[in-house]
Amino acid sequence: MRTRFAPSPNGSLHVGHAYAAVVAHDLARARGGEFLLRVEDIDGTRSRPELAEEHLADLAWLGLAWDGEVVRQSARLASYAAAGERLKTLGLLYPCRCTRAEIAAAATAQGPDGAIYPGTCRHREVDPAGDLGGAAWRLDVAKAAALAGPLAWVDERAGPQVATPEVFGDVVLLRKEAPASYHLAATLDDATDGVTLVTRGADLFAASHIHRLLQALLDLPVPVWHHHGLLVEPDGRKLAKRRGSPSLADRRHAGEDGASLAQALRAHRFPAGISLSQSLNEAS
Ligand code: GLU
Repeated sequence: MRTRFAPSPNGSLHVGHAYAAVVAHDLARARGGEFLLRVEDIDGTRSRPELAEEHLADLAWLGLAWDGEVVRQSARLASYAAAGERLKTLGLLYPCRCTRAEIAAAATAQGPDGAIYPGTCRHREVDPAGDLGGAAWRLDVAKAAALAGPLAWVDERAGPQVATPEVFGDVVLLRKEAPASYHLAATLDDATDGVTLVTRGADLFAASHIHRLLQALLDLPVPVWHHHGLLVEPDGRKLAKRRGSPSLADRRHAGEDGASLAQALRAHRFPAGISLSQSLNEAS
């Protein structure tokens, strides 16, 4: 079996990330499996190489050793593009040039990621010779779900689930400023890396409905999921550096002992004011 921790180098890690890494690491070790580290560095506008290096140093400081080479999404762009082409060939993607403001103005429902795309571009005629360079490509979720048929998945903590990918509306899979969306890249990578147990925070529980659909469309193996609780502040909100949660790097540079912090997280002893929320579908 194999788990992974997949930080995005667009900000420093905090104790919530440390907890996620400890969960992924310890589940692998407890079951004689492997623990991979994957740097999700394809958000070209926000990813910073120095933060990826900081994250590796944070994990080492926590005493969490990963197996094999660090995987970097930026080295895998061709595989995301190929999967995108395959979905286009199946007629499941359509180009969209709506701005956020246009979507917000036309949207009538909220999904787990915010406003559900109102479908403005879904039936728009596309000139194949036209310049689509600036477009994002959205998944026609209803069409894709009809093609895939009923899908089930299992979360170790929440039990068997029936996939309801339509709760997100037509998600973006390929975009102009980043070669692939989180949904497409993470799903492909978990398959490529042979991840059998996808561990991550409960805030991403709903995303697994979409990932399960993508697995069916792209003939990918289906892992088991383990969505763990989230560390929250006294007001119930997720930790965030902008709300004053010190980063792991700050703690490391201040001379704190990382292995002791990891041990405390294992024992569910959290820094002052922080607690573990076990509910699923936490707002992100
Ligand atoms: N890069 C994602 C994050 O930092 C990882 C989510 C996942 O584990 O699937 O939230």
